[in-house]
Amino acid sequence: MKRKNNLYVGLVHYPVYNKFNEIVTTSITNLDIHDISRSCKTFGVARFYVINPYPTQQKILNRILKFWESEIAGKYNSDRVNALNLVFYADSIESATQQIKIQEEECPAIITTTAAQMDKQISFQNAYQIKGPIFLLFGTGNGLTREVHDMADHILEPVKGDNYNHLSVRSAAAIVLDRLSSDK
Ligand code: SAM
Repeated sequence: MKRKNNLYVGLVHYPVYNKFNEIVTTSITNLDIHDISRSCKTFGVARFYVINPYPTQQKILNRILKFWESEIAGKYNSDRVNALNLVFYADSIESATQQIKIQEEECPAIITTTAAQMDKQISFQNAYQIKGPIFLLFGTGNGLTREVHDMADHILEPVKGDNYNHLSVRSAAAIVLDRLSSDK
């Protein structure tokens, strides 16, 4: 059975770790926006929030989106336009959550994702069974900070592979969305 159209995705550029375990803001990348929005469209996500506190980064996002709102883009690749229509900007996780609350008239359950095994992670099956709106957060850089996981309602179990566990955020998002969008 397919999930109701109340799954929201956030790509977090702050706060995330860099490889020295410092808390940083990462830059928005074109590839992430395109690929994750296409996965969101495929799996029935309501909105894809790109979260970055810097106005200069918001400008970059707007520039990417502006081209895809043009007539020429619609003629060139309308499928791409449909996917990018899901993209919204927010300057923080809190403001995106607030926007979703207004949209859904209900606070979303915040679920964070990670490649790591952590305490009390929720299974894909249990996450799928949550009936209300879900705000699913993905990290950039070296991943979401401990504080983000701590403030979330749930931390999702990782996608498990072999010994090598370094999925790109784009690949991780596609796999997680496939598992949460329906019970097959
Ligand atoms: N710059 C990197 C890239 O895309 O190549 C970003 C890596 S970032 C740490 C990857 C994000 O994807 C994580 O914060 C998490 O949200 C998600 N992710 C990666 N591997 C995962 C896994 N095995 N299970 C669940 N989520 C995963």
